[in-house]
Amino acid sequence: MIYKRSSALFAEAQKYIPGGVNSPVRAFKAVGGDPIFVKKAKGAYLFDEDGNRLIDYIASWGPLLLGHAYEPVINAVINKAKDGTSFGMPTEIETELAKLAVSMVPNIDKIRFVNSGTEACMSAVRLARGYTKKDKIIKFAGCYHGHSDSFLIQAGSGAVTFGSPNSPGVTQGTAKDTLLAKYNDLQSVRELVAANQGEIATIIIEPVAGNMGCIVPTDTFIKGLREICTQEGILLLFDEVMTGFRLAQGGAQEVLGIHADILCFGKVIGGGLPVGAFAASSKIMAHLAPEGPVYQAGTLSGNPLAMAAGLAMLKELKERPEIFESLAKKTAYLHEGFDAVLKIKSVPYQINRFGSMISVHFTDTPVIDFETSATGNNDYFKRYFHGMLDKGVYLPPSAFESYFLNDALSYEDLDKTIEALDSLDL
Ligand SMILES: *Cc1c(COP(=O)(O)O)cnc(C)c1O
Repeated sequence: MIYKRSSALFAEAQKYIPGGVNSPVRAFKAVGGDPIFVKKAKGAYLFDEDGNRLIDYIASWGPLLLGHAYEPVINAVINKAKDGTSFGMPTEIETELAKLAVSMVPNIDKIRFVNSGTEACMSAVRLARGYTKKDKIIKFAGCYHGHSDSFLIQAGSGAVTFGSPNSPGVTQGTAKDTLLAKYNDLQSVRELVAANQGEIATIIIEPVAGNMGCIVPTDTFIKGLREICTQEGILLLFDEVMTGFRLAQGGAQEVLGIHADILCFGKVIGGGLPVGAFAASSKIMAHLAPEGPVYQAGTLSGNPLAMAAGLAMLKELKERPEIFESLAKKTAYLHEGFDAVLKIKSVPYQINRFGSMISVHFTDTPVIDFETSATGNNDYFKRYFHGMLDKGVYLPPSAFESYFLNDALSYEDLDKTIEALDSLDL
């Protein structure tokens, strides 16, 4: 395939935008080469600036569960826009989306809308701290909760020490309040809790991880977290920005059968427009301004266009809950197809899958946490990524990302994808 125009656009973008992109993973740093500029998209396909058609497996990193330019969502946005785009005053549609979301998620009474997943997680942690009157948080290495300071933290030297900043600009003062545990390792959590008795406000986790490839929590691990939190008076915070309204109506909570104390949403809840949200019981949410003292605000929060897109999306999911099952089946089909093909190529690989999330890691080691995810061979991954791209399949341009299937993908698309893999020389 030819990417002449994309490369020219990228060169121009780099003159005015740092790295030519507005979010780093778009820049192809992990796989090399120039990123592809999109002209438009419809259903399961991206159409780039050079006229190539690509089968899309990222769906804007998750939001477009029903495929690109889904008519009811697009129409809802167009119609809403005609009445004005922002008022800085309450609108009825905010309550409509809140009511619908509350009806779909098993254990929330109230929800606050923000503009991104980052904002949701940042605000949810502030609420947890304000509610518990404790400062420290536990997060898991490899889990992503957006780019706010408290989350850009890596493990310190000892297992029980506090974290250190993993980006310049994050202060050591902030880092000392974020403790790093290992995913799927309950003992690492127990040690941190014991060493910081009575100081931990919340444990934040991706209940099914998607930011180190797809990683599934073991039953004992996720149940154990709930028990520890309940026993120690720590709030369990599920970051469902990726999994919410994707794995089921009630997200990972419903599928795993575990209830968290605070939930974060993003991606699907905005139907492709900038929306994030956090939610909890009335008791916890009562601590949030203006009802309570924990401050949080936003000029464009609850924006009518964003609410219209989210409402159209969630209505569809509420009316057609079979979508989740159908997506999971398609993902399993892709998994089987990939497995059959990779088995006869002499490359080490692992495939992880949960619902409509799936990832391939080129390693012999089962991928259960960040460390094992990092054992993936990036040379294989680069050849795989670019090989698939040449065959018209767009995968996430990093081995640390999950693929997101969308409802518009047909079995024919999946077969083409499997055939593309079959034809590769890894
Ligand atoms: C994408 C993501 C975020 C951040 O959301 P943004 O809208 O990109 O700020 C937070 N948590 C998880 C689990 C995510 O996947």
